[in-house]
Amino acid sequence: MKIIMYNTVKEELPCVDEWVAKTGHDVVNVYEPLNVDNVAQAQSFDAVTTQQTTAIPAPVYESLAGYGIKQIALRQVGYDVFDLPAAFGQHIRLSNVAAYSPRAIAEYTLTQLLNILRHNKKFDRAMATGDYTWAAGGQAREIYQMTVAIIGVGRIGTALAQMLHALGANVLGVDPVYRAQNEAFLEYTSLDDALSRANVISFHTPLNDETRGLANQNFFDKIQPGTIMLNMARGEIVDMAALESSLLSGQLYGAAFDVAPNENDFMDQKQAVADLPENIQRLTQLDNFYLSPHIAFYTNTAIKNMVEMALNDAVTLARGGYTENEILR
Ligand code: NAD
Repeated sequence: MKIIMYNTVKEELPCVDEWVAKTGHDVVNVYEPLNVDNVAQAQSFDAVTTQQTTAIPAPVYESLAGYGIKQIALRQVGYDVFDLPAAFGQHIRLSNVAAYSPRAIAEYTLTQLLNILRHNKKFDRAMATGDYTWAAGGQAREIYQMTVAIIGVGRIGTALAQMLHALGANVLGVDPVYRAQNEAFLEYTSLDDALSRANVISFHTPLNDETRGLANQNFFDKIQPGTIMLNMARGEIVDMAALESSLLSGQLYGAAFDVAPNENDFMDQKQAVADLPENIQRLTQLDNFYLSPHIAFYTNTAIKNMVEMALNDAVTLARGGYTENEILR
């Protein structure tokens, strides 16, 4: 089978070669995201895979259907890049790699929580100027004293809850889906109750109509003064103006984000600092705000899993088969 792979990054290439050697299929790499300008390159291929954060608009599905292509296999979790009605309208089957390594994101979330608790940004900045005093960063707090609310206890949220519980933290879970087995390491509760009790709030939900703008000013008004906020899920979950004023007022003790609203405008590219969105320039100046370029997933295990799983799904769906990773209507 001939598979066209969009937006390939160099770290994926050895994994692709390994998979090709194992399966005997052909893979041709394109180094840009799938879009209206390059969809024509998929002509004469049997299957398509991509990983990208830019939206895949309606005309792309129309073109793919015209070329006889029946699927798109995404090499990532978040599938908000798809226009689902447009894809299904063209009978294009879609898949994502729902769990390439939930641990990767959970471990990064934990890393950033520890960075905030230990004031590492302040210490790093002070040491860069020759200041090696303790006062430069200030006293830390210890993780077993924290009550952490995990909003969205799916694959990643569960992995994080298990780690935090193992470290002695008190873990609260907020999720419309109840999974009894999670009671071993967290307490399920309502959103309002979690906000009133947590020292740390961590988002692990998809972006959907309910979660878009979930952390608005009203949300920030309900949290305990001095709360830590972690967002490794999607930027649009949090109102960034409310976040900024909460960081400045002390309502938030600190925050770490691996995502940002409209992050495609500046992430995954190099630019002058002055060209960054103004609020990002202001926020990243703060000692208690961490921003990272959507790297929580970025581990060797995750890359290998996402490549192999998506390529397997591409073959399966192109042949009309079944995969548990299919995104259903
Ligand atoms: P998942 O589907 O396993 O879990 C999501 C959970 O959120 C589900 O249990 C669902 O019931 C719950 N949920 C949905 N709406 C909710 C709401 N309004 N309130 C509370 N809970 C709600 O997904 P996952 O694999 O754990 O991934 C979660 C998200 O993490 C993804 O959708 C993606 O946006 C993000 N993500 C980020 C990175 C990164 O590198 N930063 C990598 C992978 C995924």
